Amino acid sequence: MSIPYYHAIGKELMVFEHAYNCKIPFLLKGPTGTGKSRFIEHMAYKLDTKLITISCHEETSSTDLIGRFIIKGAETVWLDGPLTTAVKEGHILYLDEIAEARPDVIVAIHSLTDHRRELFIDKLGKTIKAHENFMLAASFNPGYQRGFKELKPSTRQRFVAISFAYPKAKIEADILVSETGITLDIAKKLVNIAAKIRNLTELGLTETVSTRLLVDAAKLIHIGLPKRLAVHVAVVEPLTDDLEVIQALKDLSDLMI
Ligand code: ADP
Repeated sequence: MSIPYYHAIGKELMVFEHAYNCKIPFLLKGPTGTGKSRFIEHMAYKLDTKLITISCHEETSSTDLIGRFIIKGAETVWLDGPLTTAVKEGHILYLDEIAEARPDVIVAIHSLTDHRRELFIDKLGKTIKAHENFMLAASFNPGYQRGFKELKPSTRQRFVAISFAYPKAKIEADILVSETGITLDIAKKLVNIAAKIRNLTELGLTETVSTRLLVDAAKLIHIGLPKRLAVHVAVVEPLTDDLEVIQALKDLSDLMI
């Protein structure tokens, strides 16, 4: 496998490398589709370390991360969860959307995020010391709008944090070209549409156009879907269900591509 493509936006590569050297937990903040997961994949590859990603959701519990007893034939055997594996073997564990997980997940990682660097496995009554290469990373969507969960200051302050935002127009166009093979001319048009919609704060969208949506539109255009239709289905429709807003965004984007 070759290195996952990631176009730096700021100083995040340097910051992560230094945080990794000190094994300080790392928080990637930012809206969905701004390259957080891609960044961590890129860094893990670059640092030649294994990455274990957990996509957290409201049912994600500490048991899912730490491990559980399972019945095997007539026996009950212990099965390490991904966090325990990463702690023992020295990998990067990436908790994607950490604020979505159940509160016991936050409790479970506390002792790993301070000088102790240890994991308490309550079901085994055992504490294990983290491998020297173990590092915890997490992503969090600050979501200034409704519907997003918060992360407590006492948790946030255990991490070094970097904000991810939509890249500058030139970089975003380069990303679209590299990711999809689309022409720079079309990439620029897609980026302009995104910039326009991102500025329409009065629409009250929960989340606005992400780079991910533009990549999807660019991919569809590249393999032959008509441009306007691609923007409708990949950019406009995923944003909202409000028919009037959809129509307004379609009209606006039709003029720009
Ligand atoms: P997040 O984890 O923030 O939700 P992802 O890392 O999954 O977002 O990014 C979504 C897609 O956007 C990626 O698959 C990639 O195609 C593209 N992307 C966004 N930002 C970048 C970047 N800086 N460099 C390369 N690709 C990017």
